[in-house]
Formats: sequence, C-alpha cells, structure tokens
Amino acid sequence: RWSRVKGRLRTSVGEDVYSSWFARMDLEAIQQESVHLSVPTRFLKSWIQTHYSDKVLTCWQAEIPEVNRIEVTVRTPMRAATPAVKDAAAPAEHRREEQRSAPELRSTNATTPAASNHDALGGSPLDPRLTFASFVVGRSNTLAHAAAKQVAEGRRGDPVMFNPLYIHSGVGLGKTHLLQAVTWAGNSGTERKVLYLTAEKFMYGFVAALKTQTSLAFKEALRGIDVLVIDDLQFLQGKTTQAEFCHTLNALIDAGRQVVVAADRPPSDLESLDERVRSRLAGGLVVEMASLGEDLRLGILKSRVVAARAHHASFDVPQPVLEYLARAITHNGRDLEGAINRLLAHSKLNNQPVTLEMAEHEVRDLIRPQEPKRIKIEDIQRVVARQYNVSRSDLLSSRRTANVVRPRQVAMYLAKTLTLRSLPEIGRRFGGRDHTTVLHAVRKIEGLVSKDTTLSDEVESLKRQLQE
Ligand code: ADP
Ligand code: MG
Repeated sequence: RWSRVKGRLRTSVGEDVYSSWFARMDLEAIQQESVHLSVPTRFLKSWIQTHYSDKVLTCWQAEIPEVNRIEVTVRTPMRAATPAVKDAAAPAEHRREEQRSAPELRSTNATTPAASNHDALGGSPLDPRLTFASFVVGRSNTLAHAAAKQVAEGRRGDPVMFNPLYIHSGVGLGKTHLLQAVTWAGNSGTERKVLYLTAEKFMYGFVAALKTQTSLAFKEALRGIDVLVIDDLQFLQGKTTQAEFCHTLNALIDAGRQVVVAADRPPSDLESLDERVRSRLAGGLVVEMASLGEDLRLGILKSRVVAARAHHASFDVPQPVLEYLARAITHNGRDLEGAINRLLAHSKLNNQPVTLEMAEHEVRDLIRPQEPKRIKIEDIQRVVARQYNVSRSDLLSSRRTANVVRPRQVAMYLAKTLTLRSLPEIGRRFGGRDHTTVLHAVRKIEGLVSKDTTLSDEVESLKRQLQE
C-alpha cells in the first residue's frame, strides 16, 4: 500500500518534486484514521506540511478512504541510519530504499560541520579587485555602502539589523562590486561563512542536485551559511527553484542568518517571482543605487588609475583628462573602467603620455552624444488622453467605463515600457492604484498588441508622438 501511495504522489507532484521532497519519507505506522510518516529533517517536515499536506492526504485516501489525518515527524539520525523493521506490510522495495539513503543521511544530518558542506557547495567565482577598499563612495551609493559595510562587519550571533538587505540599480552601477566586497570582508577575519552565488548558480546548483538526488545535501549546505549573498536575482527562474529559494530565504532569516540580494529592479518589479518571495524581499531594507554622479565618476576613474599604476608605474592621467572623462562618460562603471584600460593600452603601445586629444579619440564610442529624451508619465497621460478623446483626470479617476478603461491601460503600459518607473510608482501616478493593477494592464495590452492590429497601430503612433 505504501508503495502505491508513493506511486500516486509521484504522479501527482512530478518526478522532480517527488525526488526532492518525498524520496526519503518513510511510513512509520497506520493507526485507524491517521497515518504517521517520518522524514530526516525538520526542514523537510515543515516544507511538506506547509506545501504538500493536502496532496499527501489525498493520495492516502485513494488507498484507504478512512484516513483523515497525516502526521509527519522527524526521525533521529540514529534511527534512520539503522534500518528498522517496521510495519510488517512495508514492501521490500521500501526497505532497500531506506538502506540506500542511510549513509547520505548520516553525512548530512549528523554532526557534520557546516564548513565541509559549504566547501562542497562552492560559490560563484570572486574577483579579488572588488573590495571595500576599491569601492568609491558618493551621494548615489552612500546608503547601500553603509548597509553593506554593516553586514560585512557583523559577527556570528550579532542581531541582524536588516534582513534581507536588498540592493538594486541599473547595470554597471556597482552592485556586484558591493556584494563581492561583503563576501571578501565577511570571509576574512571572522568565523562566519559568507557564500556568494549568482542566482543562476543557485539555480543550476539546485537543478544539478535534483538530478543527482543530492538536493537534500544542497539544502542542508545552504543552511549552514551565516551570510548568503545572491547576485542578479532577476535571473532566478523556474517554479521549483523559486520555491526552493523562497524556503531557503525563510529558513535563513528565521534562523537569524543574514541574506543579501542584488537585482536590477525593486522587489515589486520582479514580475516572474512569486508574491510571497517578493513581499519577503521587500520586508528587509531595500536600497536603490542611483546612477553615478559626476563626483563619483571622477572618484572611480582616479581609483582605476591608481590600480593601473601598481603595475605600470609610468602611467598617469592628467587631472583635466580625468575631468573630461567624468563629464563625458555618463553611462556606467564598466565604461569608466574601459576608458582607463584603453588609455593605458594606447599609451603603453605607443609609448606616449596621455593627452586630452588622445582621450577624446580613444573613448569616442563610449560617449553618448545626447541622452535619449526622458519621457514623463504626465506626457504619456496627456498624449493618450488626446488620442482617445478623454480627459487626463478621467485616466486618473476610478471610472470603469470601457471608453476610459482601455486608454488608461494603454497609458500604464506605455509608462512601464517607456520610462524607468517601477510598477508601484506608476500606480501612484495613476490616481493611487495598486501595482498589481498596473501589472494587469501591462500584461493585457502586451497580449492585445500582438493580435489586434488597430490597437498596435495606435500604440505605435503614441510612441512616435512621445519620442518626438
Ligand atoms: P553591476 O553589478 O551593478 O552591474 P558592477 O559592480 O559590475 O555593476 O560595476 C561595474 C564596474 O564599475 C566594475 O568594474 C566596478 O568595480 C565599477 N564600479 C561601479 N561602482 C563603483 C564604485 N562605487 N566604486 C568603484 N568602482 C565601481
Ligand atoms: Mg552585477
């Protein structure tokens, strides 16, 4: 019977989920209306209880209709490691499975120090240059820097002040630099384990672990970490991985461990993530790093020159050239670094000192002649209102008549695609609507423009009017 129930579970949740959560579940006893199951860890127990208790019950009821209660307990490592003779009805196949899993249980569940798990897990590679020492602080990143520093200097057992720490910004503005700085600083000197993982690495690590049936070890390893640092969270994909990430996040935070996350947008705009993960992420400290101000750009350029001079003592960039570059290159930190590298290469190869002329020539492609026109939400509302012959206050009102609803959705869609405003911000600017309303509108119009040519022409014409 137990093997039939397992078969049903496997079919109902799919092979991946089954091998991840249920492969090590054992039947302990059946007493009248209740079934007693056991798993090796508390983590598995709570996960199964919160996510799969209904499914498990249904699968049992299909075999034994009287069952109306499922109990899950954590078995001790000792007991699990010694194949116990159980329910005489337990099929031989079940006992074999238990024996197979026993050594694994011992290594992950007994007193194995977290360190070995941590080593086995392996973080993403770190760049030795990305430290606090080389991070330049300016107006746009003061708060993010201070928070990161605070996290890095914490010691095991310290109260955690903001959890998770969530840093977001556009590309090339120093998120990875800051996260790796936290990792370097945290791992040197203190007894804490700081693990830096890109979201992709987390994802592949988890999927690989699922394939090799070591996902339990993977989970246990993650939970031995004091500070978990996840970069580029916007790339986290896949339902199972997200569920796993969500659980890891909760488990770590509940255990008083620190989580640091970076992404290219605020939590509310991580549209593919589950609502629970988003709200958990938003529940800590969310810090945005604005684009680099001119002072910061100058600081970064100078620090790059200093770094280059460590290996090329004769290399120097005169102050006017630095100022020119800081003013001309507005885009991101990577371009600043690239500019210095080019000047270095050019002056080395030609054995020439750096001049303003050389700089102008070398970095011309990094300079944006003119920032593209910034489109304002008010402009969008005005143009849309005119096109559909409604008033702007209609768009912001709570009226739901069809002649207002569609233009309003179009306007929100344009606001999302043509500006850098977040969904909550757009909602606020549209008469205080919720971000889910905005998301709904965006998806609606996205879906329609591919089918409805009249609408897609209208949208294109609106875009042209706005970009002029
Ligand atoms: P992101 O992860 O936000 O895309 P990175 O951390 O990769 O950006 O930064 C891009 C480049 O700019 C890196 O070389 C980084 O060292 C540099 N950089 C960005 N911000 C700073 C800063 N405040 N101080 C020093 N270097 C910076
Ligand atoms: Mg990055």
